[in-house]
Amino acid sequence: MPIKKLKMPVEQWIKVKEISGRLFDDRGRFIGGEQRIEILQAREHLQEIIQRSEEEPVPAPIHGEVEWFFKGYVYDVSDIKDRYNYNDEQIQLLILEDYDKERRKFERLRRLYKSEDIQRESQQRERIPEHVRIAVWRRDGGKCVRCGSRENLEYDHIIPVSKGGSNTARNIELLCERCNREKRDRIE
Ligand SMILES: [Zn+2]
Repeated sequence: MPIKKLKMPVEQWIKVKEISGRLFDDRGRFIGGEQRIEILQAREHLQEIIQRSEEEPVPAPIHGEVEWFFKGYVYDVSDIKDRYNYNDEQIQLLILEDYDKERRKFERLRRLYKSEDIQRESQQRERIPEHVRIAVWRRDGGKCVRCGSRENLEYDHIIPVSKGGSNTARNIELLCERCNREKRDRIE
């Protein structure tokens, strides 16, 4: 069953809401479900939600609707909620599934279109189990742990397999190609 959902980065979402006056009313007060709280509190509250959403998808009641936050994105799930009557746990799982789908899609596209990655990627794929890749990508937020880049990411063994490092999430981190090369140059 196809899940059609809208999503956008949190920063963009806040701007849209602020412009349309739906996040704050005309007296500069935050509109949050039933209650109205002051603007500073609102921003704090929002920051707290955004922080928690780095760990897992978090629902936030805003202006009578529930929006979901996860890793810097806002998910509008009202459509699927109305249609399928999913509970919170199911929505949480669907957002996680979507997150992994996107990762897998771009891993596949890189293998397809960036031929220099083919060999290294196929070697990695044999070594690193899918559930470990899911956990590492989620923990590191789809970014290089050193410089924050989202480009040309690689799964790097902190302790190399050749030196007895394991294939577990604890021993694997996301590094961009450049940081990974720098790290290798230092070790060698
Ligand atoms: Zn990097």
